[in-house]
Amino acid sequence: MVATRAGRHRLAAWLLMTWLLMPSLALGQAVELVAGVGTLRLSPQVRYHHDAMAVDRVEDVWRRVDGAGMTPLPGGNDTFGFQPGAFWFHVRVVNLDPQEPRWLLVQEYPLSDHVDLYVRHADGRTLHHAGGDHRAFDARSVRYRHPNMALDLPLGTPVDLLVRVQSQSSMQVPLQLYTPKAFMEVSRDAQLAIGLYYGIMLALFFYNLVLWLWLRDASYFWYLCHVTAFGLVLFTLNGLGFEYLWPESPWLADHAVPISICLALVAMLQFSRTFLELPRRWPAGNRMLLALIAFFVLLGLASVWLPLRISTPVASRAVLVGVIGIVVATVVVLRRGYTPAKLLLLAWSMFLLGTAAFTLLAFGLLPKTFITEHGVQIGSALEMLLLSIALGHRYAALRNENQRISAETNQRLEGKVAQRTQEVRSALMQLEEAHARLRDSSRRDGLTGLYNRSWFHEAFATLAEEARAGDTPLALMMIDLDHFKSINDRHGHVAGDDCLRWAAHRIGRCLRPYDALLARFGGEEFVAALPGQGHEGALAVAEAVRRALNAEPCVSGALRIPVTASIGVHVLPPTHAGGIEAAFAVADRAMYAAKHNGRDCVELAP
Ligand code: GH3
Ligand code: MG
Ligand code: MG
Repeated sequence: MVATRAGRHRLAAWLLMTWLLMPSLALGQAVELVAGVGTLRLSPQVRYHHDAMAVDRVEDVWRRVDGAGMTPLPGGNDTFGFQPGAFWFHVRVVNLDPQEPRWLLVQEYPLSDHVDLYVRHADGRTLHHAGGDHRAFDARSVRYRHPNMALDLPLGTPVDLLVRVQSQSSMQVPLQLYTPKAFMEVSRDAQLAIGLYYGIMLALFFYNLVLWLWLRDASYFWYLCHVTAFGLVLFTLNGLGFEYLWPESPWLADHAVPISICLALVAMLQFSRTFLELPRRWPAGNRMLLALIAFFVLLGLASVWLPLRISTPVASRAVLVGVIGIVVATVVVLRRGYTPAKLLLLAWSMFLLGTAAFTLLAFGLLPKTFITEHGVQIGSALEMLLLSIALGHRYAALRNENQRISAETNQRLEGKVAQRTQEVRSALMQLEEAHARLRDSSRRDGLTGLYNRSWFHEAFATLAEEARAGDTPLALMMIDLDHFKSINDRHGHVAGDDCLRWAAHRIGRCLRPYDALLARFGGEEFVAALPGQGHEGALAVAEAVRRALNAEPCVSGALRIPVTASIGVHVLPPTHAGGIEAAFAVADRAMYAAKHNGRDCVELAP
């Protein structure tokens, strides 16, 4: 009991002495690191000083700290935007957790160029740690995307932490203290979320890369550029670019932000132009997007030289203009009936919603939840997923359209071919008919319509062949009209022609039952072949012909002209030898014999 009281008195005396010796430490309240807390946001307790010319030395600022020359953060807000010079932040902490002598000070904004930590212990010892992305990545206490510095905080003794930040990028200083265990747990969750996000990006990238290699559709190419460039934007903003891609290059750590934003926007706009087929569907919108592309190309090039405090905010704000331009183009094309644009609209809405949630969170209008905090990541992951689906949908729509067009074309072509075939067929038929008519007319005699002599020659040869093959007789009949010259002389040639036609008709009608072949032999002579007729049959038929002519006169106009004929008959035996001409000569001789016998009679060749 006594010992305890004595102990208490000793502690009080020590505190009094400390208070007298180091008035600086007595100024301001120390932030207590209570046992079991593990993590602490310093912003509410931090006081700052803006050294606009970046000329203050650390001694000057320690004097300012001790002389109450630091001000609290305006509204507790640790974000100042793009600012010249350096910012100094001071906080006094006292470690009350006997289990945790080591703590980690983390600057949870990865893009600050120079972060210097000055630690002043109660015994007057001061230490300096240097960090930020203008120093080698490996210099960090923990190799992590946020600048961090390990601290030894003795139990129960206040320690002054003075942080100097100078950066070309935005001045954001969300300082946080962690015990090693708490830091491990927080970073583990963050790594999982980041891994998930970039895992989705990589999967989409490779999936669409394969599709692009297969399909060679420009939309897929620009989609790949978009995913890559946008992935690069977030990779840089998360501090992962510096950690993994360019740990040796502070210049890239800074300039990668505006340059990758410009690249992402160029790819995004190009993708939208090809996907929406803007040059064809909305030329004015196409010109608008081309102008935006030109702007981002120029800004990207200029970002190489421009100071970050100009290029980064201009690029960030222009993103909104670019996305709104794309949304307008999408809505216009959609209203013109291009349905694949629906998914595109949904995708950009996701992106805008995610970004809006993140912005509202930043302004304190939405509570901090997993969704609002990672709004940009969730929105963009959904956006890229939907864009990939939209690409597939568009590809299917294009393929269906192509199939429909080719089916229609085929149908039209088939119809045309059928029509042409029909036309060719009927032309061929007409030709065939004309040809048949021509062939027939070449066989016929113009006046009487009977076969002519040359055709009779051909046909008779065939009949003679058949008679020989069938062992049947074949009769040949030569018919010559009597005194025809005097008919012409007396009644004229026109009446003579009438008589020829009339005689041809009568002879033809008479021979019809006998399957005979009849022809005009020349002048007023006719010749007939009677297959299968022997002597008797042939004589009977010849007699019938003679009677058919002499039975009544030919009527020509008002004239009635009696016409008779002398007929010579020659029956060829089945085994007849010799040519056709010989057979004609025999029949002719028989006909002349009939003339001698007084005409209007039939004579059989011996
Ligand atoms: P025959 O009884 O001896 O046979 O005496 P014919 O007068 O009939 O014999 P000829 O051979 O002397 O005369 C045949 C005539 O037939 C001569 C010719 O004017 C006539 N003739 C031949 N072809 C035609 C024709 O196409 N039209 C007309 N009107 N007369 C024709
Ligand atoms: Mg004659
Ligand atoms: Mg005659």
